[in-house]
Amino acid sequence: MTHPFSDSPFFRQQLYIGGKWSDALSGKTLAVEDPATGTILGSIPNGGTEETRLAIEAAHTAFKSFSQTTAAERADMLRLLHQLILDNKEVLAQILTAEQGKPLSEARGEVGMSAAYVLWFAEEARRTYGEIIPSPWQGRRIMATRQPVGVVGAITPWNFPSSMLARKIAPAIAAGCTMVCKPATQTPYSGLAWAELCEQAGIPAGVVNVVTGSAREIGAELTANPKVQKITFTGSTDVGKVLLTQAAQTVKKVSMELGGNAPFIVFDDADLDRAVEGAIASKFRNAGQTCVCTNRIYVQSGIYDRFIDKLTTATAALQIGRGTEAGTEIGPLVDGNSVDKVDELLADAVAKGGRVVAGGKRHALGANFFEPTVIADATSDMRFAREEIFGPLAPVFRFETEQGAIDLANDTEFGLACYFYTKDLGRAFRVSEALEYGIVGVNEGLVTTEVAPFGGFKESGMGREGSLHGIADYLEIKYVCMGGLNAAS
Ligand code: ADP
Repeated sequence: MTHPFSDSPFFRQQLYIGGKWSDALSGKTLAVEDPATGTILGSIPNGGTEETRLAIEAAHTAFKSFSQTTAAERADMLRLLHQLILDNKEVLAQILTAEQGKPLSEARGEVGMSAAYVLWFAEEARRTYGEIIPSPWQGRRIMATRQPVGVVGAITPWNFPSSMLARKIAPAIAAGCTMVCKPATQTPYSGLAWAELCEQAGIPAGVVNVVTGSAREIGAELTANPKVQKITFTGSTDVGKVLLTQAAQTVKKVSMELGGNAPFIVFDDADLDRAVEGAIASKFRNAGQTCVCTNRIYVQSGIYDRFIDKLTTATAALQIGRGTEAGTEIGPLVDGNSVDKVDELLADAVAKGGRVVAGGKRHALGANFFEPTVIADATSDMRFAREEIFGPLAPVFRFETEQGAIDLANDTEFGLACYFYTKDLGRAFRVSEALEYGIVGVNEGLVTTEVAPFGGFKESGMGREGSLHGIADYLEIKYVCMGGLNAAS
């Protein structure tokens, strides 16, 4: 089948190892589906342990020379990469929408974010300063320098197949690391496009390698191989725990961006229209499939009914469609399992007294489409109070007091993003300090930017991506003590 991107050099169906494109050693492939139509977009190599080992070898070899390049040289490569992404934004967005399902407008936004991360880390590459520390000894000087950690294994999810890799590839290159990347099996083409982009940007062979195939085998090799110094993972908390356990055997550095269970709190004194707008944006972006998506909406009693009315109206107005259709705001979910999960969570809520006030069923457009749904009278015994929904389901709970809302919001093992709406300045500070989350949106529903640190408290992960902190995880600190500096007596 042909697509608008069929002939594009960015639509690659092979592994990229040591600067060469290849099939799996076994010759086996996996099919990749368009979630909107169920049609097959193409195939990818079903790689595993051996291909991963080869990619690690290539990265390990490339590290010897790449780690010696200057920061300015690496910044130049990243600037070229940034420009290439911008020049090819449309085709990259088309590939993203085809494999992931999100509306083209969101795919363009994501590719734009990828470019923004690359430019940011092109700038940060030159600022990995060390320290000269006042010495407690005469005749000795103390320096702390920062150097690249080495080979990095990166595993990324399907919900942001372009920008989740951008946050890892860009700081790794900036720091002077080399990489083996494994994109999600549902959305491998945006990951393979990164390989083509890196090749065109003149990033040396072996610096960025991309393998596809068995997640279990690739993950096991990346975590066990002593030539890999660091694992960076974005995905579910369950898989993150598996990787943490595996990585412990060789004591790798780890960065984890894991699941969330974002609360969205609306106080009686909030700007109601702004809160509804924020709830729609933070709940339904990418059809509810982001780790910072609102999972639980808590509304204070005084405005509960008015909020429900406005949220219902706004939700019912959202346009569902294929991502490629103009005007689409909600695309399909990524696969049948995701739709089944939304269905199950909805049935559980309805059985426990939840009231469906918007949406509430699968959509006639196709197997993976689900109507954006609002459930009033949500209660904490419903499954979505504890579980990440990852779909277009908006449960609205009621609360009475500020402390009550804080307690409810913090009553989870997750701690990634949270949001709250108030016009009271004192409350804005009190509540943002009390919430046990790595990211807090006050009167804002969309807060992600390359300049701010993104990461979670508690079981939502460790490390930060983006901002000046985003490169820190790719650098080791080395203390050098220079002795014998006194003049010979
Ligand atoms: P999601 O819920 O977003 O699919 P997952 O954690 O299942 O999150 O997947 C995120 C990434 O982790 C994907 O690239 C997936 O293929 C990969 N993955 C899944 N299971 C494993 C595993 N056992 N070892 C390594 N990677 C895995």
